[in-house]
Amino acid sequence: MDAHDVLIVGGSFAGLSTALTLARARFTVAVIDAGAPRNRFASASHNVLGSDGENPAAILERSRAQVAAYREVTFVNAEAVSVRGARGAFTVEMADGSTVHGGGLVLATGVTDVLPPIPGLEALWGDSVIHCPFCHGYEFDGGPLGVLATGPASLGQARVIPRWGPTTFFLDGKIELSDDGRRDFVARGVTIEETPVHSVEAEDGALAAVRLADGRRVALVGLYLVPQMRMTGGLAERLGCAFTDTPLGRIVQVGADKRTSVPGVFAVGDMARVPHSVTFAVADGTFAAMSIVHDAVMG
Ligand SMILES: Cc1cc2nc3c(=O)[nH]c(=O)nc-3n(C[C@H](O)[C@H](O)[C@H](O)COP(=O)(O)OP(=O)(O)OC[C@H]3O[C@@H](n4cnc5c(N)ncnc54)[C@H](O)[C@@H]3O)c2cc1C
Repeated sequence: MDAHDVLIVGGSFAGLSTALTLARARFTVAVIDAGAPRNRFASASHNVLGSDGENPAAILERSRAQVAAYREVTFVNAEAVSVRGARGAFTVEMADGSTVHGGGLVLATGVTDVLPPIPGLEALWGDSVIHCPFCHGYEFDGGPLGVLATGPASLGQARVIPRWGPTTFFLDGKIELSDDGRRDFVARGVTIEETPVHSVEAEDGALAAVRLADGRRVALVGLYLVPQMRMTGGLAERLGCAFTDTPLGRIVQVGADKRTSVPGVFAVGDMARVPHSVTFAVADGTFAAMSIVHDAVMG
């Protein structure tokens, strides 16, 4: 039974970064990946130094090839369905019943976005319907933007989006504004729209407008929303990791060194932090790997 020094579940930005740093410290690692990174809906990834504007799948493919060049790294292209064991002897089981074994465990399984069930919205998710102006904002070139309320976190989003273009805030029955709140948005130049959203309309594959329940059409080039965020899979829950609530949803609780509450288990990337970005996920992986190496050296 071959045991790796460390098992990494999730082989996207955070998981690959963890693997790279561990391999360079001559740790053997198995990276188990189901191949569904969160930003697979976007055609371009922005605000990533050295890769700005590149297709996210292309960035991952190049990164994975670089990591795969290390003989210490083994890739398992599969979905992990369960984990058992404890520090020093973890076993991860795949959907097909196969297993891998390792002394340490890093979870890098990311989060899944749940979008509001508005007709036309899901098809545009990733480029012109989006959550993060730092990732996708500059490209809208100051054109008319919208914020679709999904809950209290949308208030912060609606305050910041005018930086990127004239903004309409669609309350859609999800938020009630006080008089002061309304005045604050008006002072920021935000147009408040109370009529519920009926659908989202596209032209040539990009957002064209939001259609309101009363038939009016608001022309837009970009629509922002805060999706409901949930863990991808349930490995962290089943391991007994502690969680913490954030305005964006529940994340795994970790220390600065990315250790979870379960000995020998680390968590990195979107599943264990806010805010989210490729750069943060990569940094988390480096951090966790250095913590693991430090543990091994210091005992
Ligand atoms: C639409 C969209 C656009 C974005 N654009 C940008 C951008 O332009 N710039 C930017 O910096 N950030 C962007 N982001 C954020 C960025 O995608 C995330 O911060 C980043 O992907 C987080 O990396 P991660 O490795 O933590 O998780 P992910 O990239 O989500 O990867 C998780 C990996 O784990 C795998 N996995 C999950 N469960 C299992 C399992 N049980 N077994 C095996 N494998 C498993 C998944 O298949 C996946 O490969 C965007 C996000 C979205 C939603």
